[in-house]
Amino acid sequence: MSLPPFFDDYLHFLRFASVSTDDRYREHVHACAAWLSGYLQKAGLKSEIHATPGHPIVTAHSPRHPAKPTVLIYGHYDVQPADPLDLWLHPPFEPHVENGKIYARGSTDNKGQIFSHICGVRQLFESGGQLPVNVVFLVEGEEEVGSDHLAPFLEAHREQLQCDVVVISDTGMIAPGVPTFTYGLRGIAAMEIFLQGPSKDLHSGIFGGAVANPLTELCRLAATLHGPDGKIAVEGFYDGILPLQDWERGAWKTCGMDDAELKRITGAPELQGEAGYTSLERTWARPTCELNGLTGGYQGQGTKTVLPSQASAKLTFRLVPGQEPARILDLVETHLRGRCPPSITLRVERGHSGGAYYVDPHGPYGQAAQDALRAVFPGKEPVLIREGGSIPIVADFKKILGVDTLLLGLALPDAGIHSSNECFPVEHLELGMRLNRALLGALAVPRNG
Ligand SMILES: [Zn+2]
Repeated sequence: MSLPPFFDDYLHFLRFASVSTDDRYREHVHACAAWLSGYLQKAGLKSEIHATPGHPIVTAHSPRHPAKPTVLIYGHYDVQPADPLDLWLHPPFEPHVENGKIYARGSTDNKGQIFSHICGVRQLFESGGQLPVNVVFLVEGEEEVGSDHLAPFLEAHREQLQCDVVVISDTGMIAPGVPTFTYGLRGIAAMEIFLQGPSKDLHSGIFGGAVANPLTELCRLAATLHGPDGKIAVEGFYDGILPLQDWERGAWKTCGMDDAELKRITGAPELQGEAGYTSLERTWARPTCELNGLTGGYQGQGTKTVLPSQASAKLTFRLVPGQEPARILDLVETHLRGRCPPSITLRVERGHSGGAYYVDPHGPYGQAAQDALRAVFPGKEPVLIREGGSIPIVADFKKILGVDTLLLGLALPDAGIHSSNECFPVEHLELGMRLNRALLGALAVPRNG
């Protein structure tokens, strides 16, 4: 197998153990940022490293021609921890090539994908040509820990980051060889609720029956969040939601993921969800309310006849276009407070949140993205999908920079992202470079819309 251009540089990039969540890797994260900035410079761009209260952000600019549109390419150089290490067949930060794949932490998420964009631009420069558009790279080191310092950075650097559209390759392909354009993402809102009953744990024989049990009341409250039809029973929860379009319901029926496959992957005995929707519709385009954890009472071996004084639950909501996270948390809090009995004190703590995202795949930028995919996968029509996960920064790009984002991911379903033996097909590196060049070309063409 012939190796793609810049392959050794890619391996070098992968050798940095740029684990953002663990302080012990701080030096590796910073060294990775420094190397990356140097590489962007070598690729023909003017690069800078920006310190943040967390890990640095690396930017790079091509020379700006006022007549050309500007494309901002976002990615991240930080990676998830590799633990548990004994599940890896080869050390995670010593890239290993086997059967046409590169095995290493970050090989897909996100080093392989952002690196192919950088190399696409490098090739355009090296072929002597000018870039068809102005390019700005924005590569952060905190994506895997919530991108806390990215939104303030966007606010502070609005002018330097001004662009017409953002491009991100950090999503998935529906299957190998299937060009995939992700035009929607779900948002997220998190909260934790704490129920306090008596001031201390009580003997259930002496007091049980006369004093409310917070754990019982928590279960009762949690059970009011859904109706029997799987719909979320919080008043106003579905108000303003972008309804599923007929064309997408039709397209998703044939996009290759069916319920039998979903059952196989999840190991669930049966699938279940909101009435009136298919599983893909439920995960890609409908909101959810999920209990992520319950605590309270005795968890040790055997029995303890305790009436616990406290109970708590962690809740998250996946949101769809049209739902504002803060408003959803308001509605849920009102719902819970209205149903919490006077025998219990309810405290609500709000967690992280991020908006949902949707770009019209048939609009001018969506068309450009599809044209680029057609150029790179000749004879194949791009599959248009949404994803159930959340990339909050995409909503930030819209809110702060006022621009749409095109999500053109090259991750395969079995890439092992966030898991052991993460891998990236060698050919995807070159594919990514071609996609980058095709996309920049397609975005240079003015379109109506
Ligand atoms: Zn990730």
